[in-house]
Amino acid sequence: MPLLSALPRLASLAAKSAMDTVFPPRCYACNELTGGQHGLCAPCWEGVNFISAPFCARCGMPFAHGMGSEAAECMPCLTLSPPFAKARAVFAYDDGSRRLITRYKYDDRTHATPMYAAWLARAGAELLGEADYIIPVPLHRWRLVQRRYNQSALLVQGLAKLSEKPALLSGLRRTRHTQQQVGLTREQRIANVEDAFAIPPKHAAQLQGKTVLLVDDVLTTGATIESCTRALLDAGVATVHVLTLGRTTDDDV
Ligand SMILES: [Zn+2]
Ligand SMILES: [Zn+2]
Repeated sequence: MPLLSALPRLASLAAKSAMDTVFPPRCYACNELTGGQHGLCAPCWEGVNFISAPFCARCGMPFAHGMGSEAAECMPCLTLSPPFAKARAVFAYDDGSRRLITRYKYDDRTHATPMYAAWLARAGAELLGEADYIIPVPLHRWRLVQRRYNQSALLVQGLAKLSEKPALLSGLRRTRHTQQQVGLTREQRIANVEDAFAIPPKHAAQLQGKTVLLVDDVLTTGATIESCTRALLDAGVATVHVLTLGRTTDDDV
């Protein structure tokens, strides 16, 4: 009996090792062989600056030192008061993590989704617990055709699987084509995405008074995230939380 019950497991291990021979596991960031470990190779793993407390209670910006209270907010949040309730991110968006994002976005590294979703679920556990729906920052349909997938929608699907919170993949849509944000100043970015998002009428009723977890790959100046947040709030959503893989951790990006 023990042998018989062990057979399916042996068969799956054999299949896995056959797969590893044909497609040996490679690092999601640098493409080097990872020596049997799926995910990141040791040097790439060490290069990622994972965010941990203390950080701003509102936007998640890491603090160099504890502020004496978990409710402390950073100066930009105190002065500008962003429209979202709370934003959290997995890691600092810097030289150590940039390749993770660009490869996931443009290089078909979609098989990294379960790992990234697990990271998001951990960093955003509190926000996820409060959410009624998880919604991705949408791509314009032309860009979706070009790229074939929306990385934020993949992350939302992965999170929904882990949390059993419903994904609303079409909860937001782009109302117009916008320029890429890369290379624009903060003011240009804000103008570029102003009023560029809306809730499709078919989702308007179900989102009234709800808490939404908005998901994107990175939070940089926040222009896109803030425009999405305003569209959700204007349409009657009560609270918007934000969860991203990366976020900039200095003010000059
Ligand atoms: Zn690597
Ligand atoms: Zn803040």
